[in-house]
Amino acid sequence: MGRSVVLIILSLFLCLGARAQQDTIAVQVDTLDRPADIGSGLPFFAKGHGAPVDTLDVGDGRIQIVLKDDNTWYFIKNVSALAESDLFTECWREHIVNPYVNTPLDSIPYRVTVCLVDSVSRFVCPHKGKVFSKFGLRRGRRHTGCDVPYPTGTPVYCAFDGRVRLAERHKGYGNLVIVRHENGLETFYGHLSRIDVAVGQWVHAGDLLGLGGSTGRSSGPHLHFETRLQGHAFDPEWIVDFENGTLRKNVFVLKRSYLSPYNKYVPDSIDEEEEIYMTDEQIRAEEERIAKERAAMKYHTIRSGDTLSGIAVRYGTTVSKICSLNSGLKPTTILSIGRKIRVK
Ligand SMILES: [Zn+2]
Repeated sequence: MGRSVVLIILSLFLCLGARAQQDTIAVQVDTLDRPADIGSGLPFFAKGHGAPVDTLDVGDGRIQIVLKDDNTWYFIKNVSALAESDLFTECWREHIVNPYVNTPLDSIPYRVTVCLVDSVSRFVCPHKGKVFSKFGLRRGRRHTGCDVPYPTGTPVYCAFDGRVRLAERHKGYGNLVIVRHENGLETFYGHLSRIDVAVGQWVHAGDLLGLGGSTGRSSGPHLHFETRLQGHAFDPEWIVDFENGTLRKNVFVLKRSYLSPYNKYVPDSIDEEEEIYMTDEQIRAEEERIAKERAAMKYHTIRSGDTLSGIAVRYGTTVSKICSLNSGLKPTTILSIGRKIRVK
């Protein structure tokens, strides 16, 4: 009797173990070196066959280390812990392209450090190629991603580890896959001819998401690739060098201003270490400076009869200064009534 209870408990344990194994992502294998000061006569681990013998939590339990009986170890991501985190539960909508519509730009911290790769997370370029249509304004419309030529049927790879949030056809995008990543970003893969993943699926960097194509509003086979932070798109070329298929940075300091469609950010080729390691005082000083700058900003709503020179006189400034504060505004621009322009 006692023996069968033990057997039942043991088999239950094994079942749960097998399940946990399926729910996790193996990432990296490394070897635990035997410390030099351990004498050769002392018993250490008996070399086994690579069977997992223990799992250790690291940090908040989202990453675990599995120790094996052959003195090696590997990292796994604890997917069940990740699934419960805010990142993968808040604004998680499976049929809405941008579920962050109620997240205005102002609510994003003015500076977010995005860890793109580390010892357990890698990057794989979705496809190498020369970007032929860049992020930004294109024929008067905002192009929220960049386009890479893509022969129909070519595999599209996932850029970072994450979970598929959307995988279906959407008007302009055609067949679209959106993956949310642990680094807080979402990546978009549009115009696919075939989708090979399902919503909710956990994926690795380098996993096949589908095949390139020309579905949706597309003038020929290409991949439309987007990077977004809480629904706000920024230029993927700031972080990805598509021609070489590499990341430009390991850590990306994303300032809120970069998310504005009119930003003028130009990326450096090296990580902005100073920015990453700013002290609390420096961050506070920077926040205060920005708050002061925002408080000093003044706007004017155009009324009938307004002219730029009249507005400049009224606010004690010049036409050229006003133009420099408003992207696209020229001294000759016809002012439409109701338009809000920045004057200071
Ligand atoms: Zn595009």
